[in-house]
Amino acid sequence: MRKLILAAAVLAAAPSPASSQNGWDDPFPAHQVMDNLYFVGTGGLGSFLITTPEGHILINTDFERTIPLIEQSIDALGFDLDDVEIILGSHAHGDHQAADVFLRERIGAQIMIMEEDVAGWKRMNRGAGDTPIDRVLHDGEEVTFGGTTLVAHRTPGHTRGCTSWSMQLEEGGQTYSALIVCSFGVNANYVLVDNPNYPDIADDYRATFAKARAMPVDVFVASHGSFYDLRTKYEALQRRERGEPNPFIDRAGFLAYVDLQEGRFQAMLESQRRDDR
Ligand SMILES: [Zn+2]
Repeated sequence: MRKLILAAAVLAAAPSPASSQNGWDDPFPAHQVMDNLYFVGTGGLGSFLITTPEGHILINTDFERTIPLIEQSIDALGFDLDDVEIILGSHAHGDHQAADVFLRERIGAQIMIMEEDVAGWKRMNRGAGDTPIDRVLHDGEEVTFGGTTLVAHRTPGHTRGCTSWSMQLEEGGQTYSALIVCSFGVNANYVLVDNPNYPDIADDYRATFAKARAMPVDVFVASHGSFYDLRTKYEALQRRERGEPNPFIDRAGFLAYVDLQEGRFQAMLESQRRDDR
């Protein structure tokens, strides 16, 4: 792990002011979340490796410049980026899926995208126009590989095809439901009222908040570490004694995240309605 941090620190030696502020380009120690779910992202970007005996699944390639950090994280865990067979993502924004085509060209993995995000993903990915999407996903569909099943839950609003991934994990003889949350957040520049490019955006957010609350989520992780307090939980993981609960089991934290984002959504909706009058 020390080797990883040193090497990654060299790569991140000259971060742009913006990226050092949000930690996007800062290395973060790779770690096992639970069972075959591993964190391989950065201080600000949530990337996850799901390992199987037949090869691996990677959720979120992030930017092309993030790939060396992801690769070093995967190496530190004793796995190999070249063994990734399926590339999945949270949503078609650059900080999560801009390197999909770049990585596919290097390792030959399959790419699967939620139908409602295909157009946005094609706009974003360099050369993606010529790259076939191996599978177009629909809400509730399963991706099964090497004995592991992930379910693609469409949680739209942040993007039309925003995808939260669920899976079952085992630890200490118990089974836990994990959710790798897309994002339920409203960006500062989003238009929630009379948006010609996304007329249903407000209805989609409302449906997503309701859907999220009804989901059986024990283990909570997300496309940005800040959503689930990655740093605090990672530190708790380091201090964890045998028999103590896994810090990533946090249904209360998940519901608090949903509440926080719904509050921000409501406030922005009301302010845009006022401006509309
Ligand atoms: Zn986003």
